[in-house]
Parts: sequence; structure tokens; C-alpha cells
Amino acid sequence: MTARMDKPDYYEVLGVSRDADERALKKAYRALAMQYHPDRNPGDTEAEDKFKMASEAYEVLRDPEKRRLYDTYGHAGVNNTGFSGFSGVDDIFSQFGDIFGDLFGFGGRGRGGAQRGSDLRYDMELTFAEAAQGLKRTIQVPRSVRCDTCDGSGAEAGSKPETCSMCRGRGQVHHQQGFFTLATTCPRCRGRGTTIAKPCKTCDGQGQKRVEREVSVRIPPGVDTGMKLRLRGEGDLGPGGHPGDLYVFLVVKEHPEFQRDGQDLHILREVDFARAALGGQVTIPTLEDDTTVNIPPGTQPGDRITLRGKGMPNPNHAESRGDIIVHVKVTIPKRLSQEQREALERYAEVTAAS
Ligand SMILES: [Zn+2]
Ligand SMILES: [Zn+2]
Repeated sequence: MTARMDKPDYYEVLGVSRDADERALKKAYRALAMQYHPDRNPGDTEAEDKFKMASEAYEVLRDPEKRRLYDTYGHAGVNNTGFSGFSGVDDIFSQFGDIFGDLFGFGGRGRGGAQRGSDLRYDMELTFAEAAQGLKRTIQVPRSVRCDTCDGSGAEAGSKPETCSMCRGRGQVHHQQGFFTLATTCPRCRGRGTTIAKPCKTCDGQGQKRVEREVSVRIPPGVDTGMKLRLRGEGDLGPGGHPGDLYVFLVVKEHPEFQRDGQDLHILREVDFARAALGGQVTIPTLEDDTTVNIPPGTQPGDRITLRGKGMPNPNHAESRGDIIVHVKVTIPKRLSQEQREALERYAEVTAAS
């Protein structure tokens, strides 16, 4: 955790002001996530670092409680692992170090101590339509599993792990330093307490091997950027055989016309002032097909027309959907043709006379 002292400011990371609202945060995060996504920058560790830092900043600032802590105490308020007494800590937060420690958490520390495997993080990009409909996608997930050749012992067939002679199986050795006795991890067995005279050739004595597994992920309809799915037990297998979890972090691309606000979708339509006065129709996209919306006579600038239940589904209750809200922008022509001018002058005369 010492490296955290030099961490950049989360607001600077996202390039937003300190009073940025949720929408501004999400917009900034989405742009950075798209730019630095590891899939788009294979082998580029600098991009990966930027990606991770942006994700971390967003995770904190999107959560009002964590943001308040960050604003008050800085990084110490949200990254100190000992700082866990406040309410509203969600599951992911206790995993902060692991999740962001490494994209796939290799070698990470399990939540339940040494027995549990690391959690893995997978970042998934979705189009707006995919987010609206939900989908099932198969992803390749690297995972440590027990080596079958040695059955996880790390020793070659016919040999057995032996109690470490240096620490006598305790996994720790003690050093005298002045008045203090320091216990450190045994350098010979690296804390395992056992050594292997003949390491298993398949796994090089690790007792584990890495495999790529296919994991099927079902994304419910209505998800949004910043949401994550937790797949229990799909993470790394720990030394004790207990797997960690797999977290799928979602980034949803923006729709060219809709502005999303929770489950509601806002869209702007320009209507000529005469059409606004007389009434008419505009065409808008929906999550299903394009549809025609009636503009009632006498529509005013800024009026909204709401299409109930046409917005995004709620990922937790697919049958409950938000609305589509059409914002009417009434336009006034900057130039008039001769014919238009004559018609409008006639309109002005009638209006003045009445
Ligand atoms: Zn092996
Ligand atoms: Zn030892």
C-alpha cells in the first residue's frame, strides 16, 4: 500500500471538476475506458495502468459515501484496508486491492485469507442495443487449477513434499535484531512449510497450472456503464481449493441520440415553429423500432412528450421499464423565402387585427 501515497488525484485522473455530477463522471470514465481498454492496447502496460487507474477513480467517485470519504481524507479515506468500519461498504470495496491489483488478479490475495483464491476482473464492452436487450456471452477466463499430474502436491509421482528443514514446517523464521525478534517468511519453503525434492514437471512444483476456461455470462437487459456482475466461484482457485469470484465490469457505448438517465432515455427533436403551433409529427428511434410521435397543436419550446414504458428495462426487474422523453426544441427560421415571408406577413396582419 505504500505506492498509494503517490497516487494521482481521482478527479484529475478522470479529468473532471470536483463538483462533477454522476453523468459527467460516467461520461469521462466511459471515454477513458474506451481509449485505454486492454483489448484495444494489447501489451501496452502504460495503457493498462491508465485503464486501471480510471476504473479505480470511477469506482470511488460514483459512490456518494466513498466520494465523501475521498473528498475528506483523500486516498487514505478509501484505500486503507483497515478503514472498513463505515456502513455502505459493498462487496467490491473490501476487494479493492485485489480487483485493481492486477487485471486478472494473478498472485493476488484472497479475501478469506490464504485459503481462498483471487478474485478476477473482466472488462466487457457492450453496445447500447446489447445493453438494452441483454445477452449471453462466452468469455475466456484464465484460472489456476489443481495440477492433475501431482494432484496439487507439487511433488513428482513417487516423491512427497517434505517438512522444510529450515523452519521445521512453521513457514516462518525468526531473526534477532537488537531487542526485537522479527518473524519473516521462510526463504527456503516460501512459507509453505514443506519443500519438494523432486518437483512435478507438469507444474514446476507449483501444484497448480493455468488453464483458460469458457465462462458463460448472462447480462440482464438494462445494464449501464459502471455496473458489475459477480459470478461466484468463477475466480482463481486458491491453495485450499476455494475459488474466488469473477467480476464482470461493464462499459456501455453511448447511443448517438439518446441521453440515458437511469432507465429514462432523453431525446431532442427540433420542430419548426409553425408545426409546433399547428401540431404535427416527428419520428424517433426506440429500443424496438422507429416510431412516430404526435406533436400536439400549441406545443411550446421545451415541452416534453413522454412515452411511458419505452425506456430502458431495469436490470433487476426486466418488466419494469423507464420512459422515453422527447424534448421539443422549437426552431425559428433565420431566412425566409419570398413565399414564406408573404405568408408570415399575412399571419402578422391577422394577429394584429384580432
Ligand atoms: Zn504438478
Ligand atoms: Zn521453511
